[in-house]
Amino acid sequence: MKDNKKMKLFSRFVRILVKGNKYLIAILFCIMLTIAGLDLIEPQITRTIIDNAIGLKNTNLLIKSILLYTLVIIISAILNIVLTYLESIMKKRIAIKLKNRSLKHLSKLSGNYYSNIKTGNIISILNSDIFNIENFGIEILLSIVIDIITAVATLIILINLQPDLLIIVLVIQLIIIVIQTKFSKELSNKTKEIRQKDGDISNLIQEYVSNIMNIVISKSKQNFFKRYTKEQRILTNKCINLDLKIAKNTSEINVMSGLIIISIFGYGGLKIINNELSLGELISFQQYIGLLIMPCTRIVNSNTRIQQALVSAERIFELIDEPIEIQQNNVGKKIEKDDNCTIKFENVSFSYTKEYKNLDGINIVFKPYETTALVGSSGSGKSTIINLIFRMWDVDDGEIYINNVDIREYNLKNLRKNISIVTQDSLLFDDTIKNNILLNRKNIEENKFINLCNKLRINEFVDDLEDGFDTIIGENGVKLSGGQKQRLSIARALLGNEKIIIFDEATSALDNISQKIVLKTIKEFTKEKTVIFIAHRISTIVDADKIYVLENGKVIEEGNHIELLKNNKVYRKMFVQEDTIK
Ligand code: ADP
Ligand code: MG
Repeated sequence: MKDNKKMKLFSRFVRILVKGNKYLIAILFCIMLTIAGLDLIEPQITRTIIDNAIGLKNTNLLIKSILLYTLVIIISAILNIVLTYLESIMKKRIAIKLKNRSLKHLSKLSGNYYSNIKTGNIISILNSDIFNIENFGIEILLSIVIDIITAVATLIILINLQPDLLIIVLVIQLIIIVIQTKFSKELSNKTKEIRQKDGDISNLIQEYVSNIMNIVISKSKQNFFKRYTKEQRILTNKCINLDLKIAKNTSEINVMSGLIIISIFGYGGLKIINNELSLGELISFQQYIGLLIMPCTRIVNSNTRIQQALVSAERIFELIDEPIEIQQNNVGKKIEKDDNCTIKFENVSFSYTKEYKNLDGINIVFKPYETTALVGSSGSGKSTIINLIFRMWDVDDGEIYINNVDIREYNLKNLRKNISIVTQDSLLFDDTIKNNILLNRKNIEENKFINLCNKLRINEFVDDLEDGFDTIIGENGVKLSGGQKQRLSIARALLGNEKIIIFDEATSALDNISQKIVLKTIKEFTKEKTVIFIAHRISTIVDADKIYVLENGKVIEEGNHIELLKNNKVYRKMFVQEDTIK
């Protein structure tokens, strides 16, 4: 990272810390300052005890000094508890703030982002990086300020006490700082590499765990383990290497620190023998040196930790700053309660990547009170049309209108609120069957729910379950069959009051008889809505009011079932083929 960029990152980081925590930070600062002040008093008491109380055999003074010393230690200890408590509050606050902000931002990004998303990396940002910030970033920043104050104050005292002894100590200390600075740079680079590798491995594991059933079935476990073992080996080596480097560095520092003690007692002892120094002065000098070195080491060490925190902050900011391509137009037009929705595609063209037009000059109308169907081979662009209506992506050319207003002029939240999409594998939660259908919607009448479940024949399989509608269905509904899952998703959609309802191959896992029943129920429950039906089986859509046949991103035929059969082209061919297969 360039220094300039680092400074910007750092100041943004500090702003986030300070925002909303001003009072807390002020209190923390005062407490730290008091603790530092108390620390500075201790060597003075030591000196009085050794030189004046013990040296002059003054019991009275000894008792007083010891009581004072005890008091200082106790107050310091209590303040430390308060400090940790307040710090902990602040750390959690900031971590939660960053996490929420990242999670919310994620939901505002476009289909483009979601298509290329690396789940593992994002999880690693949300866990490890925010953890880094929480644990290394915040308290260190505060303590640095205090450490600087303590170090400077101690230095002044030491200059007055023993300047020549101080110089010896400082030279050694300077060498320590040089070693540490070099090391901290190296550590920062190595940490970044490790974090990156860690993210890669998280991705692999995520892919493995979330597809475990498929992986077992397709026997591709070996493939995963080959990649995983290799990556894991690289990571392990990097980690061990880093640990070794840290250990070496610690030992170097320990030796140097030992040299400081040795020189204090060697040179200082000589001065006492020559009567240039009292024993109390030497001991208190040593204590002060501790007070000088401790904050200096902390400052230098915190440099490495701040580097780590900055790397983490950079990754978090990258996520938070990911541009929102499809803007939430909060002032935009809204679909009102009594509106019906006519959706019109006018010359719409669109491509996911620049090379190929996935939709090419599409003209389609979806009307309320009607069912409009899209058919076509897989990859012909049917789901893409849905993605555009939901504004996961925006069109490249042409316009999409809802009630003659361009959909880009609508309030995005409101637009999406009015669209319900049921896909082949809609998202199910590891919750009860009932909750999966109701989805926290409190205003759904029990009667309507029971009636619908009866009609969709959800009851048939639910009644066989021990806990009925309260049965928990496992992650993504693993405990249900494909057809059962689809019925739940359809029920969920039919209970909603969205004006536009889209079924994208939503009945693909149902057998023919179940499908007929489900289709009848859908019709009954969506009368005044704009219904879009995508299916690869023609039998599913023969009753549609209007059918569009797509091929390579173009509409090649349109009409109702009878008209299209008369046409005697692609649609008829598809229909005949399906019939013969049956
Ligand atoms: P279908 O008619 O089967 O629903 P889609 O609309 O999903 O077809 O896809 C149309 C074409 O767009 C396909 O060639 C597909 O590979 C491509 N495509 C779909 N989604 C994406 C995406 N997120 N990024 C890039 N290409 C995509
Ligand atoms: Mg599709």
